[in-house]
Order: sequence, then C-alpha cells, then structure tokens
Amino acid sequence: MRLIAALLLLLFAAPACAQTVSILAYHRFSPDHAPGATTVTTRVFAAQLDRIAALGIPVIPLRALFDGTTLPQRAVAITADDGHRSVFTEMFPLLQAHRFHATLFLNPPGLGHGTYLRWEEIAAMQASGLVDAEPHTMTHPDFRTERTRRPPEAFAAFLRQELEAPRRLLAARLGGTMDLLAWPYGINDPALHQAAQAAGYRAAFALGGRAAPPDAAPFAIPRYQVYDTDLGARFDAILSGRPRAKSQ
Ligand SMILES: [Zn+2]
Repeated sequence: MRLIAALLLLLFAAPACAQTVSILAYHRFSPDHAPGATTVTTRVFAAQLDRIAALGIPVIPLRALFDGTTLPQRAVAITADDGHRSVFTEMFPLLQAHRFHATLFLNPPGLGHGTYLRWEEIAAMQASGLVDAEPHTMTHPDFRTERTRRPPEAFAAFLRQELEAPRRLLAARLGGTMDLLAWPYGINDPALHQAAQAAGYRAAFALGGRAAPPDAAPFAIPRYQVYDTDLGARFDAILSGRPRAKSQ
C-alpha cells in the first residue's frame, strides 16, 4: 500500500508537471450510451469524478486562475461547452454529490429551446454555488470559415457582435461579469485574441489536449476535450497534466 502511495506521489507530483491545471472540457452527457465523440456517458463521468476524488486532486473554479488564489501544485478545473440540457440532468447531480465546481460556456440564442438548458436550470445551478456561466460566443461560428466569407470590415463587425452580445445577454439574465470566453471548436489566433480583449474578456479557453501552465497565453488557455474512453491510464494521464498523444 505504501509503495502504491509512493508511486502515485511520483506520478502526480513529478516536477515536469508541477503547477499546471488540467482543465477538462465536456460537451454533452448521456445516461445510457455515447452517441457522438463529444458525448460522455453518465457512468464514465461518475467514474472520472470518483477518480479525481480518490486521488485527492483539488477541483478549482476556473476563475481561481485569475483572482489571485494561490493554486495547488496539481489541480483540475471542469468546464462544459454549448449548454446542453444533459449538463443539468446528468452532470449537475454528480457535481453536487462531490461538491465539485464547474464552469459552463453558453451560446444565448439556443437556451430555453429544444435540447438546450432552460434559464431557470442555469439559475438553479448557479444558486448552488458550484456552477458559473460564461459566454461561448453568440452563434458558435467557425471564425476561420466566417473570415473567408466577408470583407475585413464586415468580419470585424461580425466578430465584435459575436463577442460582445453574449456578454450583455448573459449578464442581464444571470448576473456576473461574463469575462471568460471559450472559443467555438477551439479555433483561435492572435487577431481573435485581440478582439476578445477589446470586447472586455480577461481570458479565453481553447482545446489542445494539454494542461494549462501558469504562464499560458491568456487568450489561448488549453483544455483537454474529455472522451467516453478516458478511463484508467488515459484519464490518469490527463489528471497528471501529460499532453495527449497526437493520434487522439
Ligand atoms: Zn462549442
């Protein structure tokens, strides 16, 4: 037992991985099967949270990266993009069971419709103190494609609208500062970073399959897209801050 503890300590406290935060990016959850690459079954999500708890790795609110909190050597932050209703029905009860914090990145137009979160569900999650909401642009565009479709001035106006409107709308409905952004599809570049800063954001999150070091570029902070197959050694690698293999 002592040997296992020592090995775990080596694995999770290795200097090469020190002071990084593994930011987990989820999308939707399903109680019985995982129909798409970005869906994680409730069973797997529960196992992942159990693993974090068993290893004693602190789950920090995403905002702790910016508010002057002294971060532990190893930490995890949980995020979920797109505002699917399964965040409320599947993810939230498990967050509550563990008292783990998560940040939702939302596109306002879909909320309240179809398979997307209802406003009162978001408010209920916020009221628990375990969940906060931040913008994920207005309409979830692929900025790379949109840029090729418009002259530069028209793209600049489109971009401004996509970045500013969700801040206003979400702040009006939910309160809060709304100054953290997740890039749709993780797509970002220096011009987009500049636009996000000009629109009042203090940081933005991408994908990239690696942990966020303390000196990460503030508008391209990497997250791990989490898959239904991320169990055992695959999930431990994420928790220890190792980059994903290129093939994944
Ligand atoms: Zn998204």
